[in-house]
Amino acid sequence: MRVELVQGDITVEHVDAIVNAANSSLLGGGGVDGAIHRAGGPEILAACEDLRRSHYGRGLPTGEAVATTAGRLHAHWVIHTVGPQYWPGKDQTHLLRSCYVRSLAVADELDARTVAFPLVSAGIYGWPIDDAIGVALGAFDSAETSVEEARLVLFDRETHDLATRIRSGG
Ligand code: ADP
Repeated sequence: MRVELVQGDITVEHVDAIVNAANSSLLGGGGVDGAIHRAGGPEILAACEDLRRSHYGRGLPTGEAVATTAGRLHAHWVIHTVGPQYWPGKDQTHLLRSCYVRSLAVADELDARTVAFPLVSAGIYGWPIDDAIGVALGAFDSAETSVEEARLVLFDRETHDLATRIRSGG
C-alpha cells in the first residue's frame, strides 16, 4: 500500500473512503467529525442514527470502525472509527492502532482502493501528535490490505512537516 502525507482539510479529498475520527455516539461532534458532517450533509447523520438503532445501541466501541454513505463528500463512503482518549500512564496504543487496522478492513470489505485518514485521537482526544503519527505510520506499514493508497491528511502545515520528518526517520 502506498502511503501519502497530505496537508489540508480531509473533507475536500477525492477518494473512495474518508475516515472520520468519530466518538462512540456516532452522532457528530467537534473537530474533523463536525467538519465531515457539515461538508457531507444530513445523509451521513441519518445513516449514523440508523446504525445506532440497528447495531450499536451502546455506541461504537473504541478501536472499531463502521461505514456509512459519504453524502455530498467526494467519496463513496465515510468510515467512522473511535479513537481512544489519551490518558497519561495508560497504554492504549493497541486501540489507536486498531482504528487504522479496522478502518482498512472495512475499506477492504467495500472494495475501496483509496482511503483518506485524519490523525485519529490527536485533537480533542489529546494524544501526543508525534506518537499519533508514529502509530498511524506503523499501522500502515504492516497492513495486510487490498487498499492501494492511504492518505494521511494532516490539518496544519506544522503537523504535516512533523509527519514528513518522522517518516524519513529524522
Ligand atoms: P479526536 O477527537 O479523535 O482527537 P479531532 O477531530 O479533535 O479528533 O482531531 C483529530 C485530528 O484531526 C487533529 O489532528 C485535528 O487537527 C485534525 N482535524 C480537524 N479538522 C480537520 C479537517 N477538516 N481535516 C483534516 N484534519 C482535521
